[in-house]
Amino acid sequence: MNRLHRALTRAKGAWHGWAMEKHPHMARALELAAQAAAAGEVPVGAVLVGADGTVLAEARNMMRAGKDPTAHAEIMVIRMACAAVGSERLPGASLYVTLEPCPMCASAISNARIARLYYGASDPKSGGVEQGPRIFGHAQCHHVPEIYDGIGAGEAERLLQSFFAALRR
Ligand SMILES: [Zn+2]
Repeated sequence: MNRLHRALTRAKGAWHGWAMEKHPHMARALELAAQAAAAGEVPVGAVLVGADGTVLAEARNMMRAGKDPTAHAEIMVIRMACAAVGSERLPGASLYVTLEPCPMCASAISNARIARLYYGASDPKSGGVEQGPRIFGHAQCHHVPEIYDGIGAGEAERLLQSFFAALRR
């Protein structure tokens, strides 16, 4: 899609070398994803950073623990950040999430007016950004963030693959 900024390449093998310096928030999101896996949740982590660079919220998937199908990491951080700032909108904010957001989360990101979306692995099964419904490409989508994909994708994919492999065993 033409509004998807492919500013960074998917340097899977090289990621560990530069991520900590350039994308510490994604590194933290990956830590949260690993914690989700350890707790039996699909490993997805998210960090929401305010316009001034401060971390507003961080979360991991909590669907099983919360018995809540909307408890995706992105929804969790948006709820917490909105509560923290006292507004339903987060202008200037940046969302870091380890997996391509689903249609529900992409819609929430748009509704929250988040300025930048950084995500790791693509999600051919449930993604809603670069595939499937492509929420941000619709005329009815009133706010489109800048999108940077593939950041930390190798580690995010590794976490997901080992989680689902363990489930199958
Ligand atoms: Zn989602």
